[in-house]
Amino acid sequence: MIDSTSQAYSLMVMPDDDVKGKRIVAAKNVQAGEVIAPIVGYQEVDAPSKYTVQISAHRHIDELGLLTYLNHSCDPNVIVDTTSFAVIAIRDIAMGEELGFFYPSTEWRMATPFACLCGTAACVGVVDGAEALSDETLSRYFLNEHIQELRR
Ligand SMILES: [Zn+2]
Repeated sequence: MIDSTSQAYSLMVMPDDDVKGKRIVAAKNVQAGEVIAPIVGYQEVDAPSKYTVQISAHRHIDELGLLTYLNHSCDPNVIVDTTSFAVIAIRDIAMGEELGFFYPSTEWRMATPFACLCGTAACVGVVDGAEALSDETLSRYFLNEHIQELRR
């Protein structure tokens, strides 16, 4: 269940269940501001896919290892910071809690938009790139620099 490479990180991959497929949970209690995992070992690619993360206006990264399983949340507890290349807690997280980040915080246009089933009060409904979301919605979230620049 626990990938050996996760030992250096504060996260682990949980196996598929009926609802959400693979997901990542905190492997220990984490404090707001803590780096949960560095983003390493990736490959840069030109086009987005279901599994890539956008890092600049025209670049995306693939082969993210465990982080491939980091799900979207409309009420995120982590950010994927494409400046420092790290997954960082934005609030205190208890061991075992699922980790999620707001996909439009990295994605301008998503290869595969989807209907979100998070069920939170903050749910944006259809999760698509930042381009498709209103300023009011985006104002509630951390956005990476390339997304802020693309909005101008
Ligand atoms: Zn949602």
